[in-house]
Amino acid sequence: MMDTKDWKVTEAPTCPHCKAEMEQMDSRHLDWDSPYLWVCYNNECTLFKKGWKHMMEGYGQLVSYRFMIHPQNGDAGVIPAFSHDYLARYGKPGNPYADE
Ligand SMILES: [Zn+2]
Repeated sequence: MMDTKDWKVTEAPTCPHCKAEMEQMDSRHLDWDSPYLWVCYNNECTLFKKGWKHMMEGYGQLVSYRFMIHPQNGDAGVIPAFSHDYLARYGKPGNPYADE
């Protein structure tokens, strides 16, 4: 387990876009310097829904993004929701310590 006492956000935050409780996403394989990120997985999230529309109209691509918060510094941002393969592997709630 990592020492998380200096982390800004270690309790599930609430998404400012849809008020859903955010969930941990395993990000050990990603470039975020953190074993997990807080991600809003609500498919009704206004940011997520707007993203699909925006990307489809603007780029003709079926991708979107989800709202996320970095647990260590509390920075808010978005994380792309790419392909179905990617989502099936990493884009769902998961325990970042599962296979340690
Ligand atoms: Zn949301």
